[in-house]
Amino acid sequence: MKACIFHGPGNLTVEELPTPTPGPGEVLIQAQAASLCFSDIRVYKGEKAANPGVVIGHEAAGVVVQVGRGVTKVREGDVVAVCPVVACGRCYFCVRGKQNRCVNRWTLGYQGNGALAEYILAPEPLVSQGHLLKTPPTMPADLAAMVEPFACALYSLEVCRVQHGGTLAIIGSGPMGLIHLLIARAIGCATIVISDPMEERLAIAQELGATTTVNPTRNDLQKTVLELTDGLGVDAAIISVGNVAAIQAGLRVVRKQGFVNIFGGLPPGSVLPLDPNLVHYDELFLTGTQNAPTDQYARAVLMLASIPQARRLITHRFSIADAPKAFESRMAMNGLKAMIDF
Ligand SMILES: [Zn+2]
Ligand SMILES: [Zn+2]
Repeated sequence: MKACIFHGPGNLTVEELPTPTPGPGEVLIQAQAASLCFSDIRVYKGEKAANPGVVIGHEAAGVVVQVGRGVTKVREGDVVAVCPVVACGRCYFCVRGKQNRCVNRWTLGYQGNGALAEYILAPEPLVSQGHLLKTPPTMPADLAAMVEPFACALYSLEVCRVQHGGTLAIIGSGPMGLIHLLIARAIGCATIVISDPMEERLAIAQELGATTTVNPTRNDLQKTVLELTDGLGVDAAIISVGNVAAIQAGLRVVRKQGFVNIFGGLPPGSVLPLDPNLVHYDELFLTGTQNAPTDQYARAVLMLASIPQARRLITHRFSIADAPKAFESRMAMNGLKAMIDF
C-alpha cells in the first residue's frame, strides 16, 4: 500500500508499505478520503511533535475490509469515520468521558500510523472505545473524513457554552474557524463575528453565514463587536489561529463572564502577557480545548449529515502519491481544506 511517511520536519515521502493484517481486536480500513489538518502542517513545520517513521495524518474515512478476532463494534463493509484518539478507557479522564485527555493517550498520525495511507490499521483500544464511527450511507467520504475537525469544533463551542441566540467571535477564518462558524450557525447563534486579515477567507465566511466579517488590518475588531452587542461584548471568542495577539484580541471582545477558548496550538515558547485583573474583575473564563471526547465525535457524525455545505471548505484535491504537494500547498496558505482522495 502507498503511505505518506513523516521522517522529520520538512521531510515527507510516499512509500510502498506492506498492507497490515488485523490482530485480535484490530480493524483494517481501506481509506476512501483523508483531509489535512493544520496540526499536520505544524508537525511538518517542526512545531508539533510526531514520531519519525509514522504515517502522517489523522482525519480519515473508509470502509472496513477486515476485522480481527473478537471485534464486535464494526463489521466488514461498514463505512466509518476515524477518531484518531487512542484512549485506555480506564484512567481518571476516560472513566469520566474525557477520552481526549486520557493519561495513556496516543494519537494516530503522531505516535502511531495515521490517515495518509491506502489502508489504516485501527488498534484494539481505538476500536473497543467506539472510535470507529459508522457514517450514514448518504454521507460522501470526503465529508466523513471531516468528522474529526467537526468534533473538535463542536467540543470547543460546548466548552464555551455557546447557545441558540448567543453571540460569538471567531478569530481566524481558516478551515477550523469556518467549521466553528458552520456549527455555530447550526446551533442557532444570533451574532457571529469572524475576523481574519485575508479577504478571500472573509468572503467565504460571509457566504457560510457569518453575520459580520472584520479585517483587523483595516477595521477595529473590538469596536465592531462592542457596537454589535450594545457595548457588552460577545458570549465567547474562539481563537482559531496560533498566535498570542489573537488571544489578546479575544480577551478584548468578550463580555463579563465570557469565554475565551485557545483552540489553536501556538509555536513552542509562546508567552501570553495577561492582565490578571481583567480575568478577575470581569470573571472571564480563559480556557483551551484540544481534540474532543467520544461523545462529541458521535454527535459530529449526525450533525455533519445536516451540514453538507461543509464540502465548500474542500478547495484542493490530491492523490496519495502527491500527498507531499498537499502539504506544500497548505504551507503556502492556498485555499482551505486539502483532501486526499483514494
Ligand atoms: Zn484535525
Ligand atoms: Zn485513559
